[in-house]
Amino acid sequence: MHSHNHHHSHSHHHHSSAADASKRIGWAFFLNVSFTIIEFIGGWLTNSTAIMADAVHDLGDSLSIGTAWGLNKLSDKEANATFSYGYKRFSLLGALINGMVLIIGSVWILLEAIPRLFSPVMPQAEGMLLLSIFGIAVNGFAAYKLSAGNSLNERILNWHLLEDVLGWVAVLIVSIVLMFKPWPILDPILSIGFTLFILFNVGRNLKETILLFLQATPDKKLMQDVRNVLLSRAEVNALHHFHIWSLDGEHSVMSVHLELNADISVVDMKNLKQQLQKELSVFEFAHTTIELEFADEACRDQSANL
Ligand SMILES: [Zn+2]
Ligand SMILES: [Zn+2]
Ligand SMILES: [Zn+2]
Repeated sequence: MHSHNHHHSHSHHHHSSAADASKRIGWAFFLNVSFTIIEFIGGWLTNSTAIMADAVHDLGDSLSIGTAWGLNKLSDKEANATFSYGYKRFSLLGALINGMVLIIGSVWILLEAIPRLFSPVMPQAEGMLLLSIFGIAVNGFAAYKLSAGNSLNERILNWHLLEDVLGWVAVLIVSIVLMFKPWPILDPILSIGFTLFILFNVGRNLKETILLFLQATPDKKLMQDVRNVLLSRAEVNALHHFHIWSLDGEHSVMSVHLELNADISVVDMKNLKQQLQKELSVFEFAHTTIELEFADEACRDQSANL
């Protein structure tokens, strides 16, 4: 049995609202890219490693918004002979590249900022103040714009933009302090703080991405729930070759071999498949493959405990 239940975004949303979401995200992308360029130039002009760390962070934001925007279209493309599961897994590739770029950027910032802990360099506080006001305005405006949408992507982005506003508030406070007190060490301290925050998030996302690449079981509780459903049928004695893995963190694939009772009829089998289809539908698998094995039948796959 191989039931196809592929999900396409246009089956859940109207075309117009998906297009609106795409427009809003595209808009956030261009805003972020322009602001990232301004930050790199501003960080260089003000000689502030804190601004540079923020620029690296926003470069990462631009990349993830950009890939999410581009992959949005690609991931809905129909499966073909080369990519029989479709294009959903391409988003993993995007996440992996983003992670690598952010790690390289973070190492660069740490190499700049750590020596300044021992021989602090005074940044231009007035320039930092101007950039931070600009940063609060841009990120605050983007968050306000995106609050119109309520797709999952937009809500995550929105929450993230509020975090970014808080980062700029920290730069604002430090720049004001630096105007009155000669404490240049505050700049590398803030920079290293930002960078550790970036690396913490990169580590978390990379771990998730790598587990998806390695086809780890997405959720042990889900595994147990599906097992319970399958074994709850009187026609099923046992199961093996039971696998659940996720294409992209949202769409999962399930396959299993069911060992049936000795005296099962064709009518029983049809009934069993119908019942399973109904009971498994709540899990919304993108692909399910269920092999029915008779009592006197040897498993085709050699190692039955896998
Ligand atoms: Zn950000
Ligand atoms: Zn399929
Ligand atoms: Zn088997």
